[in-house]
Amino acid sequence: MSTASINGWCLTSSTTASSSLRRPTLRPSSVVASLNSSPSPPTLIRNQPVFAAPVPLLNPSNWREYMGDKTYEEAIEGLKKLLSEKEELKAVAAAKVDQVTAELKTSASGDSVERLKQGFIHFKKEKYEKNLALYAELAKGQSPKYMIVACSDSRVCPSHVLDMQPGEAFVVRNVANMVPPYDQIKYAGIGSAVEYAVLHLKVQEIVVIGHSACGGIKGLMSFPFDGTTSTDFIEEWVKIGIPAKKKVLADHASEPLGAQCTHCEKEAVNVSLGNLLSYPFVRNGLANKTLALKGAYYDFVKGTFELWSLNFELSSPLSV
Ligand SMILES: [Zn+2]
Repeated sequence: MSTASINGWCLTSSTTASSSLRRPTLRPSSVVASLNSSPSPPTLIRNQPVFAAPVPLLNPSNWREYMGDKTYEEAIEGLKKLLSEKEELKAVAAAKVDQVTAELKTSASGDSVERLKQGFIHFKKEKYEKNLALYAELAKGQSPKYMIVACSDSRVCPSHVLDMQPGEAFVVRNVANMVPPYDQIKYAGIGSAVEYAVLHLKVQEIVVIGHSACGGIKGLMSFPFDGTTSTDFIEEWVKIGIPAKKKVLADHASEPLGAQCTHCEKEAVNVSLGNLLSYPFVRNGLANKTLALKGAYYDFVKGTFELWSLNFELSSPLSV
């Protein structure tokens, strides 16, 4: 791990570095209509809480609206009959039926809606209603100890991986878990999150978590950054990590891309920690010892988690 300065800020010593959320609601249909220049909202958009609706959005009685005159069962049965009439086509027929069944379920059955609904029902029953005291407390406000910056990658949800309960962590997720340098124009999104976490929530730790097999870091290592671009946003975003890429290419020039990416997944975390020092309220928190910065790396292939401090020395006891 490097102890060199990044972006001009010394990273070896922390001492020298100098609400309530509104419930989401769907737009009134009149607003939707005016925005879409359409007389009525899309079929599945209802001006009511989806899970509180008295009737499921999709049920056997209204499948026909989405399927024409045939239910899935009827469609599949017809297909089975047709294909199985020829004995020699039985294997082909079975495969075709499986394929069509899968396609029908994903395209029209509303499985995606059902998954969300069942997920919430499970959460409500198993977690919310079993921890009413916690949720009553959270209704008054939040006071998380951590701000966590993690990748948007679906495999690395920090609340899941670190077994965090609601109220424990203020989380920002983006491609490749980047914290850009302080810039009120270009990076107001993450800047506002850092400001809110540090000044208003008064978090005690900011933890930036990198991870294995990160697509954003692979992009960072692969994009030429020669003035040409092949993406609308991704190159512009991940280039925040170019100092990490340069270091990896200098230190591990002979290694294959996969190994370089692994190095860069960790080094980019250090760049983000360095960038955090460009935020005045972060520096003040460090100087006053009310705030600490940590880097972390979650390897979901090996099932390991590493954590290191601002001086970038791995804290060996916490390699699980
Ligand atoms: Zn990632």
